[in-house]
Amino acid sequence: RKGTVIITGASSGLGLATAKSLAETGKWHVIMACRDFLKAERAAKSSGISKENYTVMHLDLSSFDSVRQFVGNFKQSGRPLDVLVCNAAVYLPTAKEPTFTADGFELSVGTNHLGHFLLARLLLHDMKKSDYPSKRLIIVGSITGNTNTLAGNVPPKANLGDMRGLAGGLNGLNSSAMIDGGHFDGAKAYKDSKVCNMLMMQEFHRRFHEETGITFASLYPGCIATTGLFREHIPLFRLLFPPFQKYITKGYVSEDESGKRLAQVVSDPSLTKSGVYWSWNHNSASFENELSEEASDASKAKKVWEISEKLVGLA
Ligand code: NDP
Repeated sequence: RKGTVIITGASSGLGLATAKSLAETGKWHVIMACRDFLKAERAAKSSGISKENYTVMHLDLSSFDSVRQFVGNFKQSGRPLDVLVCNAAVYLPTAKEPTFTADGFELSVGTNHLGHFLLARLLLHDMKKSDYPSKRLIIVGSITGNTNTLAGNVPPKANLGDMRGLAGGLNGLNSSAMIDGGHFDGAKAYKDSKVCNMLMMQEFHRRFHEETGITFASLYPGCIATTGLFREHIPLFRLLFPPFQKYITKGYVSEDESGKRLAQVVSDPSLTKSGVYWSWNHNSASFENELSEEASDASKAKKVWEISEKLVGLA
């Protein structure tokens, strides 16, 4: 049978390119889990994904009600769940003030981390039940949260600190809107959310790999300098960033190529190792990359997991 893969944020960028790459093989049915139904339908059509290979289902990760509703709808569809790709993200580098999810959490961490954490937890059982030969839960990471890299050392650096802001509810009222309890910084909030993504992948691996046989993985697909992720950035940045990545850092990767990379992590029979953070070298060969000290800190992962469980209402 065809595999069923859910991809969050498949309406543009990396998510869309991955959906296209998987659908083209004819071996996958892609559930495009998107907040903007029409945009997703249009994106699927204009990418030439054929109708029998995808379904758009509504999901707004910035609302726990919406996440629960999506999970209910998916279960009702009767499809098995073989692979879940947590890909959607918001990046608000120029925001001066924090904005918040429906449940009152700072928007970048609330969407990129908490929304995905709830989604993955609620769907884990379905994945466990699937009889697919290689079940996978993939959480898209980033180099920017990894302070052991050059890109990860551009200030403001990711840092979760003692997580007092997260523990306090990340609401900007009785607690800070930042995980470490500091002043709001949109670029840092995004990087912190990516550290949470990478920590969660490893914590899932530690807690569930043996019991479920699910492969848990993260990846840095390269710098896809042309995606909508940078839509909130100043115009000059958006103009100069792609050539800078292409010619100076040489980390640039096209949307198409990045989609092929993520599709590999979804379906390549040789990428079944669990607990791995994948990257690609200049020849586009995948390799197991090392995470920064913070992004591989098991005690921090446990703490993020436990606090997040409370925040999303699972504990
Ligand atoms: P895009 O902005 O093109 O894609 C992000 C997707 O997330 C969009 O489909 C967007 O939906 C969706 N999204 C945003 N908020 C929500 C929400 N509340 N609920 C549901 N979906 C939502 O960016 P990229 O393709 O670049 O980013 C994809 C992933 O790749 C992210 O995890 C990012 O961190 C990661 N990444 C990107 C890099 C890059 O260089 N671009 C480098 C490393 C990692 P909509 O279309 O409606 O806006």
